[in-house]
Amino acid sequence: MLKKSNKSEQFQNRILAWFDRERRDLPWRKKGKRDPYRVWLAEIMLQQTQVTAVIPYYLKFLERFPDIKTLAQAPLEEVLQAWAGLGYYSRGRNLHKCARVIENEYAGAFPETEAGLLTLPGIGPYTAAAIAAIAFGGKATVVDGNIERVLSRLFRVKKPLPKSKPDLKKLAASLTPDKRPGDYAEALMDLGATVCIPKNPRCEICPVEDLCQGRAAGEEKLLPYREKKPPRPTRVGYIYWLENDGKVLVRRRPLKGLLGGMPEFPTTPWDNKFPGLLDHAPANLNWQECGSEITHTFTHFHLILKVFKGNGNGGSGDWVAKEKLMELGFPSVMKKVAEKVLSED
Ligand code: SF4
Repeated sequence: MLKKSNKSEQFQNRILAWFDRERRDLPWRKKGKRDPYRVWLAEIMLQQTQVTAVIPYYLKFLERFPDIKTLAQAPLEEVLQAWAGLGYYSRGRNLHKCARVIENEYAGAFPETEAGLLTLPGIGPYTAAAIAAIAFGGKATVVDGNIERVLSRLFRVKKPLPKSKPDLKKLAASLTPDKRPGDYAEALMDLGATVCIPKNPRCEICPVEDLCQGRAAGEEKLLPYREKKPPRPTRVGYIYWLENDGKVLVRRRPLKGLLGGMPEFPTTPWDNKFPGLLDHAPANLNWQECGSEITHTFTHFHLILKVFKGNGNGGSGDWVAKEKLMELGFPSVMKKVAEKVLSED
């Protein structure tokens, strides 16, 4: 239905007119020329995180690091501290790395093309297209999860996600307009976020309802089809809460890997069975199990942690006064540990 070019034009015009009326007022969407730094920051934060969760982080981050120079000059720990709680910490590390590359190799100015942006740390095809279109007005095809859902329904794509991704990208490219590509990308994102929503799409207020093949077939709630995901495995481990004179031992995780560079309490590897209690303990003490377990879900696994408390010296890391612990910027799982133990004190 949408393959003919006049239909594509009709689609683009309707989407843009709808956007002019209904666009979401978001802090990174200031009217007029858009600052690539702000567009980039928002797009990185929005990967895997909901808009409502991102807004307070975005505003606080921007207050602390108002431009690329400030971010590039900040120590990594400070950046990760501001990122704490947002999850997917490789984004925070790459953000910092990317700021340094732009500052040192591009004299502080973002490259303006998709190809140039793609060479930067942490910038993949989606983010490169989004910055090129939104900040620089380049004709780039932006496809995020929301847009995939809209297109799957609009074209009634039978192939399940994620196998259908290349097809969706081609369909998206066939619709991308020459004029206002940035507004068009944000319009589709908004349509996916507010009208073509995952569970009960609001087709009755959709500006392209009559063009939608999924709706015409009565399949709008079934689409997009998805391959079944294998169940998440469960991993387990111990946390060692070591106290000495009102201070608690905290260390940093290795830079590479899960929660890389973030502060943590000493812990065992997270595996499919518990190791011996003293195998990874920071000190050979009489460890006492502390109340109920901590559970946390990462993208690829569930985690169950048993917390053990001990008093004494040992281990390597920093000794942090209990009342200062929550200022460290723990990732969510370690924050849960700290809140639990402190509440039981
Ligand atoms: Fe989505 Fe319904 Fe609009 Fe189709 S008509 S694009 S299913 S909201």
